[in-house]
Amino acid sequence: MMTNYYMPTRVVTGKGCIVANSKLLKTYGKKAMIVTGRSSAKMNGSYHDVLEALTSEGIDHCLYDKVMSNPTVACAYDGAAFAKEQEADFVIAIGGGSPIDAAKAMALLAKQDIDEAELFAGDYSEDVLPLIAIPTTAGTGSEATQYSILTNDRLETKSGLATPLIFPQIAFLDASYMMSLSVSITVNTTIDALSHAVEGLLSVRSNDISEGLALKSIAMIMKSIPLLQEAQESGDVQCMSYETRETLLVASMLAGMVIAQTGTTAVHAMGYSLTYFKDIDHGRANGLLLGHYLRKVAEKNQEVTKKIMDAMGIESVELLIQMMDRLFGDKESLTMTDIDLFCSKAIVTGNIRNCIVTPTEEDINEVYRLAFDV
Ligand code: NAP
Ligand code: FE
Repeated sequence: MMTNYYMPTRVVTGKGCIVANSKLLKTYGKKAMIVTGRSSAKMNGSYHDVLEALTSEGIDHCLYDKVMSNPTVACAYDGAAFAKEQEADFVIAIGGGSPIDAAKAMALLAKQDIDEAELFAGDYSEDVLPLIAIPTTAGTGSEATQYSILTNDRLETKSGLATPLIFPQIAFLDASYMMSLSVSITVNTTIDALSHAVEGLLSVRSNDISEGLALKSIAMIMKSIPLLQEAQESGDVQCMSYETRETLLVASMLAGMVIAQTGTTAVHAMGYSLTYFKDIDHGRANGLLLGHYLRKVAEKNQEVTKKIMDAMGIESVELLIQMMDRLFGDKESLTMTDIDLFCSKAIVTGNIRNCIVTPTEEDINEVYRLAFDV
């Protein structure tokens, strides 16, 4: 099999790594646009550290702190206009997947006039602002992917802008910013990362390189599941130590490196409607679907299912479903009308064509029904 592994992101890890490596920022220009969500970056120390690093290198900055969760296309255009107005030379994204994804689109749109109808078409020139990513959740792996996932009201779903131009130049991974994450965001983001690693193994584009990264990521994530369960049951994240957070941060980046090569599959395709129409968090949506989809895969391909179960250290798909049910508690309610709509959205996505076991619309319908007890 011919493979072509491309991962241009420099990864710097460790407590205090941004300030300690501030010199790396010097090459990108005189003014940075910092992109964040509303408040978390200012509260968890990451924004403070970025300002310290920029000041020590004599780099000016401006701040765009209006990125919402599941960022919209409008937000990307708004931030790009701000970057142009401020004449920013590069972008520093701090936050979960939402600010990082929004910043990727802003970095592209700040340099190219792309009509909204063409935004996801993939036809871009080479010009883009360099991007630095500082993840403060361990979930999306966006710091190591070429994807920007945006809420696309035109198609009533989430759409992925994908181009190697938006791979971050540098990813700074400092787990100390994650100590302030709530139980639910910790659980949801961890399961998003797990889903990326698993879906990488279920992709037609899986190869020995992505598989190695995926198996390692799954093993690292699974070690923290008992702690996540403890946190969920006590409502307290104290049991999540710095070391555990750091393991999850690296594991989620590895899973990002996986999907950067393989793309995601049916679970993400199905999850997007749950987020768009039902406001179910992205990672939670994936987690509620993952086991039920794997049960479908197992009917047709036991070998890959066994590989995934072995990597997880779980004996059966049914036990995985029980583990997810315990982590996620009460489920949202869906109607058959919801499910029919969501199936029609999922079946036409590229993610479905990316599956080694391609589900039919009926399979997808069954997965939704079983996952939500409809
Ligand atoms: P998020 O939407 O970025 O953040 C969720 C919440 O967590 C926000 O309220 C945020 O607050 C808060 N938060 C972030 N870091 C925190 C911290 N260290 N301490 C306390 N609170 C913190 O969530 P996410 O799950 O990381 O990202 C989800 C998005 O990524 C979705 O749009 C999804 O589709 C996308 N995604 C992208 C890829 C990819 O490859 N690009 C892959 C999978 C998913 P603030 O708003 O105040 O910051
Ligand atoms: Fe995801």
